[in-house]
Amino acid sequence: MIAVEKVNIWGRVTKCAHRCRYCLQGGQSQPLLSWGAYAETVEKYVRWGNENSMSVGFELASNYDLTLEQYKWYLDMSALAGKLSDSLLMGGMRMRTEEEMRIWLAERKELGLKKVIFSMGGTEPHHDAMNRRKGDFQYLLGAQKAAFSLGLDVEQRIFITKENMDSMDGLCCVLDDIGKPFRRSIYPLHFRGYAMDMEDARLDENDIKNIPESVMQYMMPDLLLSERQWAVQLCESSEQNPEKIGFFLYMDGKNTEKLLSGSCNEIIERAGKEVAEEYAKLPSIAELCRRYADTSCRRIHEGKSKVYALWFERYISDPSNGITPQKASVLHSIYPAEKSVIHKI
Ligand code: SF4
Repeated sequence: MIAVEKVNIWGRVTKCAHRCRYCLQGGQSQPLLSWGAYAETVEKYVRWGNENSMSVGFELASNYDLTLEQYKWYLDMSALAGKLSDSLLMGGMRMRTEEEMRIWLAERKELGLKKVIFSMGGTEPHHDAMNRRKGDFQYLLGAQKAAFSLGLDVEQRIFITKENMDSMDGLCCVLDDIGKPFRRSIYPLHFRGYAMDMEDARLDENDIKNIPESVMQYMMPDLLLSERQWAVQLCESSEQNPEKIGFFLYMDGKNTEKLLSGSCNEIIERAGKEVAEEYAKLPSIAELCRRYADTSCRRIHEGKSKVYALWFERYISDPSNGITPQKASVLHSIYPAEKSVIHKI
């Protein structure tokens, strides 16, 4: 029995200062919303969720380059939504000097910020080319130094491809010199957004064998299987699609008034029904595997959810499935919500 357990309001109020080649959001196609309309909508739905035992959360597209006032709102609203909010993703922010960043972070630390998360794409030339912003690598080093100097936890998430794999060891040395991170992870690109156009740069079985231990220690070797290796594991899997799901309710600029003036109950119920109907038709992972896996492909995907994303995209674009763009956008808004959901009152 499919149950919609979570709704996430998604809107874009800050402009991303990057143009990453691998942009997981597939570019910044969502319109820039006014802060007032976004904040009012989120608050209305989070409060409604609390009163109706439905977990309603919210996410900001692009980045968290918020003013201090907006950040305070973000913390208060996160608390109301039962969302942990002591960390910040630092991608897509406008460049600041190390000193400016120290001040920016210190102000937020005072309000409760504990951890900052940085994404990187190799050493300087690789990273700047990947993020399409000259000087970004040096800016990120300065930002991380500022975070270390304030005693914040620093998490480093690093994408590895065929293009930058030889620079990974060097990158780790440069990063080691500026401080000890709370966590460092190195992983292949997700199969999402613009990264779907970068398959030629995806690591393959051979590349994995050549990654030195000094780099592999930050990777998850057990999960680094090629598409053909995943296919062997998953084609006979008895695993069914999760029954508890969540979905993103996108604020697209055109629906703001409707979301604000309409009844939360009706809007969520209607959207949830549509989501559940489309989701019910989605084949299991074994069926997707049998129909769409390329059993000769040696490209690596980290974990089954990543290779699932690849087969899912093939399913969506297979004309015999009759997935219209509207149905595709509904399916793309769904995610499993297996973790226990906190109902607040
Ligand atoms: S920072 Fe994030 S949203 Fe901005 S371009 Fe890069 S991946 Fe896309």
